[in-house]
Amino acid sequence: MRYPEVWDLDSIFKGGSKSEEFIQFVRETDHLLADLAESIGDEVTLDQLENAIHNIQLQMQRTRQASAFVSCLTAQDVKDKEATLWLGKMTEQATKLQNIWGMIEDFLGGLSVEQWSDFISRPSLSGVTFNLEERRMQVKEKLLPNEEKLAAQLAMDGYHAWGNVYNAAVGRMQIPFEEDGKEKLLSAGQLQNRLNSSDRLVRECAAEASEKAWQKEADLFASTLNHLAGFRLNLYGARGWDNVLKEPLAINRMKEETLDAMWSTITENKPKFYRFIERKAQLLGVNKLALHDVHAPLSVEGDTTISYEEACDLIIRHFKPFSPKLASFTEGALRDGWIEAEDRAGKRPGGFCTSFPLSKQSRIFMTYDGTMANVATLAHELGHAYHSHCLKDMDPLAQRYAMNVAETASTFAETIIADALVKEAQTEDVKLSLLENKISRSLAFFMNIHARFLFETRFYEARKEKLLSVEELNSLMEEAQKEAYGNQLATYSPTFWASKLHFHITGVPFYNFPYTFGFLFSLGIYKKALEAERSFEDDYIALLKDTASMTVEDLAKKHLGVDLTSAEFWQEAIDLILVDVDEFMELTKDK
Ligand SMILES: [Zn+2]
Repeated sequence: MRYPEVWDLDSIFKGGSKSEEFIQFVRETDHLLADLAESIGDEVTLDQLENAIHNIQLQMQRTRQASAFVSCLTAQDVKDKEATLWLGKMTEQATKLQNIWGMIEDFLGGLSVEQWSDFISRPSLSGVTFNLEERRMQVKEKLLPNEEKLAAQLAMDGYHAWGNVYNAAVGRMQIPFEEDGKEKLLSAGQLQNRLNSSDRLVRECAAEASEKAWQKEADLFASTLNHLAGFRLNLYGARGWDNVLKEPLAINRMKEETLDAMWSTITENKPKFYRFIERKAQLLGVNKLALHDVHAPLSVEGDTTISYEEACDLIIRHFKPFSPKLASFTEGALRDGWIEAEDRAGKRPGGFCTSFPLSKQSRIFMTYDGTMANVATLAHELGHAYHSHCLKDMDPLAQRYAMNVAETASTFAETIIADALVKEAQTEDVKLSLLENKISRSLAFFMNIHARFLFETRFYEARKEKLLSVEELNSLMEEAQKEAYGNQLATYSPTFWASKLHFHITGVPFYNFPYTFGFLFSLGIYKKALEAERSFEDDYIALLKDTASMTVEDLAKKHLGVDLTSAEFWQEAIDLILVDVDEFMELTKDK
């Protein structure tokens, strides 16, 4: 085998979840974290602060290295109890690291303008100027350090706890569902799978069962949502923040003008996608699509399967014209055992890519069973690995990119392969199914995510005035969906505010628009690559390297020469999908 299907973790830490080497490593990190915390007293000199910043970056890498190892262990064998036990230790170390960061940030925020300009111009900090400026700014916009500390403590029981209650309640849900003539009790996740079934009748029954089940629990979920939102708004209010988007925009290092330009360009283009929705309804033999039909497969994906070896070769071959460096990186990763692809029992579902900063390597986890979707996933995860590879020699802080650019390299890689597969499709059915896949994937970003964004912004505005009732939440959601889908559907999901976990995540606010941004940003780069007269790869690598060191507007201006606050860039990205829609319409006109 040229490309092993089982990954090599021993070269990172030998011996799996019982690895002596790993135990030693984690113990040492404990000591190093304690030493670091101790070195920061009530007062620090600028030299001590400089040292602490270097030191904490080393500890960031150590904790990332260890937790990446634990995620690999728990994914490859869900029954590995030893590995699961390590998860607690990883959270403990991450929390310690977080607290030390808090101490360092307080000092950064407390420096006078003169002290700061002396400090930030020190040569050893030149690789992280942006990141430190950013942290200092954020401290200045928050409450006093002691007040923030108290808020964080109260949040454990009064904010994050609401998210935990939500998760626990969802975990207990048992939803009656009739299948094969028998009534079964399904979990929320199991019912979700039925909603994506290729059988329309199953989808219809699942949608009905789902609305009923979430409506039954809606009072409880209205409480959790109202209260966690109330906490967030109160904290924002105390900090003097009026705009609920302020924090999510800052986290994603972007301007509100950029977000507005993106959504309004999408909105303007929506009618061009309605013909696809109409055609899909015709092909499914219905008058209008229901919400659960939009992403349903048209037909059961053809018989075409492709072996792992063939998939690897195909990916390398298609990466090459875009970037020989990406292609040879990929070949190395596949050959050197960076990928766990074997189809065997006991593995966790899904796929991910995780990086080991100290080894300067990544590992990719997935289960490969030969479908076209698997090929896309493999390409996607290899894109993530390449992103980490490009950043591997930067200062650790300058490797921490935000969610909205996290999918840049992965979507780019996946798009190369998705396009190539459509072009090379052997039969018209295969081509159609691949095209349909691409288009409905983008509709998720343009419509489904847009509905979430519209709902969430309106909900938070309304919540400033009062608690919202279940009826109000339902109608707010249904209105948002109607608007986002341009009134094109026969049914919507009013209880989506309850069933979608993302509204109840307390770790990050507004877990929605970064997805759409990332998708279109990546497509825009892909468009530039297609049009480039000379090789695009060095520009591409330079862009990836800067993903954690500037705002997205600066990133796009510097590397693509475009202005993200105007419609032009977004339109070009959307145009790529419209070409797919044209082709889809042509291929299906006689069906
Ligand atoms: Zn991804």
